[in-house]
Amino acid sequence: MTTQATNTAQTIDSAVLDVIARTDPSVAEIIRLEMDRQEHTIELIASENHASPATMLAGGTCMTNKYAEGYPGRRYYGGCAHHDTVEQLARDRAQEMFGCKFVNVQPHSGAQANTAAFMAMMEPGDTFLSLVLKDGGHLSHGMFLNFSGIFYKPVHYALHYDKDHPQHEQIDYDSVLAAAKEHKPKMILCGYSAYPRVIDFAKFREIADEVGATLMADIAHISGLVAAGVHPSPFPHAHIVTTTTHKSLRGPRGGLIMTNDEDLNKLINRNVFPGVQGGPLMHIITAKAVAFGEALTPEFKLYQQQVVKNAQALAAAMIDNGFRITSGGTDNHLMLVDLTVKDADLTGKEAEKWLEAAGIITNKNGIPDDPRSPMITSGLRLGTPATTTRGFGETEMKQIADWIDRVIVSKGDEAMISQVRSEVRAMCVKHPLTHALV
Ligand SMILES: *Cc1c(COP(=O)(O)O)cnc(C)c1O
Repeated sequence: MTTQATNTAQTIDSAVLDVIARTDPSVAEIIRLEMDRQEHTIELIASENHASPATMLAGGTCMTNKYAEGYPGRRYYGGCAHHDTVEQLARDRAQEMFGCKFVNVQPHSGAQANTAAFMAMMEPGDTFLSLVLKDGGHLSHGMFLNFSGIFYKPVHYALHYDKDHPQHEQIDYDSVLAAAKEHKPKMILCGYSAYPRVIDFAKFREIADEVGATLMADIAHISGLVAAGVHPSPFPHAHIVTTTTHKSLRGPRGGLIMTNDEDLNKLINRNVFPGVQGGPLMHIITAKAVAFGEALTPEFKLYQQQVVKNAQALAAAMIDNGFRITSGGTDNHLMLVDLTVKDADLTGKEAEKWLEAAGIITNKNGIPDDPRSPMITSGLRLGTPATTTRGFGETEMKQIADWIDRVIVSKGDEAMISQVRSEVRAMCVKHPLTHALV
């Protein structure tokens, strides 16, 4: 990290805040406080990242001042020439990044992408097969209060739940096949929010073909790894692929839908607009184009390789400190920590609260077969995309695992929390929040 890059980022920050403060000091102050929070805490939430200044600034431009309903070359409003160019550029870059033929860059978020994908693949009332939320799935994969559980019929496959099994807490592909044969789903869904292992997309496709189902891969969490070739690609196995753009991919908050099938692409486009959305967020599509440009650089590949190395170093250090990592480790950017082997009474809720006070931001998360409710939990989910962005390596990961251990073993002792808080702050100051791509 060069001092020059840091100074540039800080200069931009204060210039942006000055402009906002002139009309709205209250909001400018809120933004300043949040900048300070991000700058001085360690972000281990696996679904979060720090987008580059270029990406964030592109999202804050006049590209927001336009209705561009429709698609490039086929809009419902005049004056869209530059919006056509930027949307086409975002599409081209995404196609190159994921090695696929068609991309819709308009979904406002991952859940919106999934809504449109479901509408393209199924009729209301149809059955689909997915991993249940409590085992690492996402709420848009059939949770009863979500559109996916209200308008479609979810059935679920399982993980191996057997301590003696070599794939304990990993996907049980026999159970995928058995459930597929039993329920004859229209679609099988893979891709998760809290799963630390490689997904075997080819195996899923084999099962889908065997029962005449289509295969959907939701790579919201791992899309940065996939783009960099650090996790196997869902192409050519999946018929339809959705993702967010703001997690490991490090872009602005948003979604994407991809396919290699021309007819399916038409259905996808129609179901995004006018199916579930009106005017696209053109400023965000502009920021997506910038982030995708970054993702095509050699530096991005190195970054993603480091994300995985850091996750493995953090998992190893947590194990050394006496915690259990579900499935015994990680192949990607995240891990689930079982707190109960360290202390049977410990909950994810308490650990998250103590760690936040010490400046280490995590989220409580159920572990497979967790007897506790999702508001309490027996686990923590830790991920490395954000800390890797600010330049942390394996040494820092070991230090973080030791801080987590000290805070948890002390049961949230105030003196310990304030000691760790000051050490965390010092490490953050050493690795300021900007990155080499700026
Ligand atoms: C995060 C996530 C989503 C939803 O993304 P939002 O942008 O929050 O709507 C969908 N699927 C999976 C697997 C996710 O992890």
